[in-house]
Amino acid sequence: MYQEDTISAIATAVGDGGIGIIRLSGPESINYVNQIFRSASGKNTNELPSHFATYGYIIDPVSGVTVDEVLLLIMKKPRSYTREDVVEIHCHGGPMPLKRILELTLKAGARLAEPGEFTKRAFLNGRIDLSQAEAVIDIIRAKTDISLKMSVSHLSGVLSEKINDFRHELLRLIAHLEAAIDFPEDDIDEIAAKDVEKSVLDLSGELETMISTAQTGRILKDGLKTVIIGKPNVGKSSLLNSLLRETRAIVTDIPGTTRDIIEEYANIGGIPLRIIDTAGIRDTNDLVERIGVEKAWEMLDQADIVLFILDASLPLSEDDQKILSLIKNRKAIVLVNKSDLPEVIDMPEILKYVHDKPVINISALKGTGLDELSKAINEMVFSGQVKGSEGSFVSNVRHVNILEETKRSLCEVINTINAGMSPDFIVIDLRAAWQRLGEITGETVGEDIIDQIFSQFCIGK
Ligand code: GDP
Repeated sequence: MYQEDTISAIATAVGDGGIGIIRLSGPESINYVNQIFRSASGKNTNELPSHFATYGYIIDPVSGVTVDEVLLLIMKKPRSYTREDVVEIHCHGGPMPLKRILELTLKAGARLAEPGEFTKRAFLNGRIDLSQAEAVIDIIRAKTDISLKMSVSHLSGVLSEKINDFRHELLRLIAHLEAAIDFPEDDIDEIAAKDVEKSVLDLSGELETMISTAQTGRILKDGLKTVIIGKPNVGKSSLLNSLLRETRAIVTDIPGTTRDIIEEYANIGGIPLRIIDTAGIRDTNDLVERIGVEKAWEMLDQADIVLFILDASLPLSEDDQKILSLIKNRKAIVLVNKSDLPEVIDMPEILKYVHDKPVINISALKGTGLDELSKAINEMVFSGQVKGSEGSFVSNVRHVNILEETKRSLCEVINTINAGMSPDFIVIDLRAAWQRLGEITGETVGEDIIDQIFSQFCIGK
């Protein structure tokens, strides 16, 4: 087992909260906590049973001052998150008790954990593989119930299982060919090559299917980048507000960025809509006018989907037509807003311009038509893919790249076979594919990549 020093960190978000947790992991965690914890029953920390909560106090061993009233939870190895001895101190959730108790654990001998170090230990100790560790971040950052479901099934190992199956199959083929290499007297070479070719084509097909889920997987994980566009006063802010209000929106503030990049996520039937430039929509009311046509183009380029709003109570204007031509070749939905007012706009004319794009009547003011919008977005995102099978979607860019590289290696295998080259060369290409796939689960991945992955975590996870 990978075992080093004992680490400690605040595991809960800092700020006022009901409870806060300081977590330690490593061989000395129980001993260190023993120096600062006094159980109400008078029992020594070393004698406490695993996986039971014990009521007591954290006491500064130097001054004898009681710092907080806590519950202590000991999880002895290997039945813990990291597979090491883990101790959690559940205290009151303010920044002061959390900071003071953390300091005391450090004084007792623990080292402040690095970002993601608990999860990294779970990986290094073999409790989870790398793709499962990556799923942990995705769970923390999940924006909707569907994205949560997808990440939870990644954590449970749905993806890892598939990758392991692929790798087993590749190993089987390698062994098969190596047998042919060892017994070259028969015509086994050619038979083996034929077998391998068929299996490799099957594998390639399966990889392709996985890769084809990546676009949807990414959208479920990171959100559907959405631009709301339309002339001033058509109701962009009103739509934004009603989307955010009605859909349990999540607002995230990205640290280190300005207010402009506050991201707002609306939840549309389980799809996180990541609305771009919400500040701009609210403040100045017109994207194109404010940032200029060129910038608007750029934004449209980044968008996965454009929501173009028209005002049903006004005739279609020249500006509307300009925007329509701007979004001609993009994924877009046309929303005819203010449908609660008498209709003036010429609907047949709109249909002439929008070609195959969905046109939906809504009223941002009354909140009508949002269900249809949700349906249209769902159809676009899931086009052809089965909803409910999100667990088998690939959502991580690193994984997608590896799958694509593996597919290329498999193409090489086919080329080598077709060129009539000896099984030794086929084996080399098969090994390359086997090696590549192992980077997803972390079996064949370099330390630099591992470090880079865990540095994306927060401290305490
Ligand atoms: P924006 O400039 O595109 O962001 O438009 P706003 O959201 O600020 O809306 C402009 C005006 O239209 C405001 O007075 C809204 O109350 C009104 N409005 C927006 N949506 C509707 C709607 O669905 N029905 C009606 N009757 N008025 C609306």
